[in-house]
Amino acid sequence: MIPIIKPSLGEAEVEAASAVIRSGWLTQGPQVASFEAEFAAAVGAPHACAVSNCTTALHLGLLAAGVGPGDEVITVSHTFIACANAIRQCGAEPVLVDIDPVTLTIDPDLAEAAVTPRTKAILAVHQIGMPCDMGRLVGIARRHGLRLVEDAACAIGSEIRVDGEWQRIGRPLGDVACFSMHPRKILTTGEGGMLVTRHAAWDRQFRLWRQHGMGVSDVARHASRAVVFEDYPTTGYNYRLTDLQAAIGRVQLARLDAIVAERRRLAGLYAEALAGLALAVPAEPDWARSNWQSYAVRLGEGADQVAVMQGLLDRGIASRRGVMCIHLEPAYANLSLRAPLPHSEAARDRCILLPLYAGMGEETVHAVASALADALAGRPALPLSA
Ligand SMILES: *Cc1c(COP(=O)(O)O)cnc(C)c1O
Repeated sequence: MIPIIKPSLGEAEVEAASAVIRSGWLTQGPQVASFEAEFAAAVGAPHACAVSNCTTALHLGLLAAGVGPGDEVITVSHTFIACANAIRQCGAEPVLVDIDPVTLTIDPDLAEAAVTPRTKAILAVHQIGMPCDMGRLVGIARRHGLRLVEDAACAIGSEIRVDGEWQRIGRPLGDVACFSMHPRKILTTGEGGMLVTRHAAWDRQFRLWRQHGMGVSDVARHASRAVVFEDYPTTGYNYRLTDLQAAIGRVQLARLDAIVAERRRLAGLYAEALAGLALAVPAEPDWARSNWQSYAVRLGEGADQVAVMQGLLDRGIASRRGVMCIHLEPAYANLSLRAPLPHSEAARDRCILLPLYAGMGEETVHAVASALADALAGRPALPLSA
């Protein structure tokens, strides 16, 4: 069976996790602090604060942006449901706009058209690793006095060109960027999230919120030779990452360049191997470099998405349909849309995500491509041997 993704984990991660167990300090402590510093340096941001996952990162990022009851946050429907859930968790309303049909990220014109006096922020999703058009979104946020929150869950190691220079997603363009370290992403700690911001005050606030609003960290109390009582200047949450996870993340982060380079090479091989089939391969705008967290091909008009996916599965190859649409899920069925979302719905119903993982190798790319050709042609699969 060829899976959709495999985490790139090795003996170095096993060693790092073992060392934490032997140290006796398991939760947020010295490993988290080191991971944060290394993460900030890796993306080129002044501050990085680790949390339990990207959904909690989105919650805190939106709270810091001042999002609360009665506010509207503009985002896309074509994204993971956590985006809308985090907005609702702040008591605010998601306003869902359509995507650009080529990049599959938020259409800046539609985002601007959706601004009302109640709009507090834009939540820009770098979907499946493809950067949003941040140049235009930054301008829109500035013009309308909005906060710009980046959902970079899938985008560690993706790059964007700003003023002629390539930089990683996470170097502050908006106010805060939220990353995920779930195993479906390219750098994983099992579960995990990171908040990266330009604002020192926001970073301080994140550190309070993630640990019950507690004014003194466990590390500081542990290290102190004098008696210290903690205080609670604010209410908070328990959104901590553990040192076990951070130690794994540090090993992964040190390999980020190689992980991204391999994925970009595999994506290039796919583009060659799939040329000539009745589908469109994904393309980068000249100002973006994807980490190809997912590789989404788009089937032609009238193709049967389920039949093609079944044809792949019958040949032992996992695939996923295009990214979900929040407005088509029962949980958000009563959300009123300002306009129809045809590109989002078409991307969900006509795109297929193909396997792409470290160590996959050129022969597997060719095996997927030839299985896809057969599935598109409706050729029956031979029974899989057990
Ligand atoms: C995975 C993902 C999330 C949620 O990340 P978790 O770490 O699982 O909470 C949020 N937004 C997008 C776009 C994602 O792909």
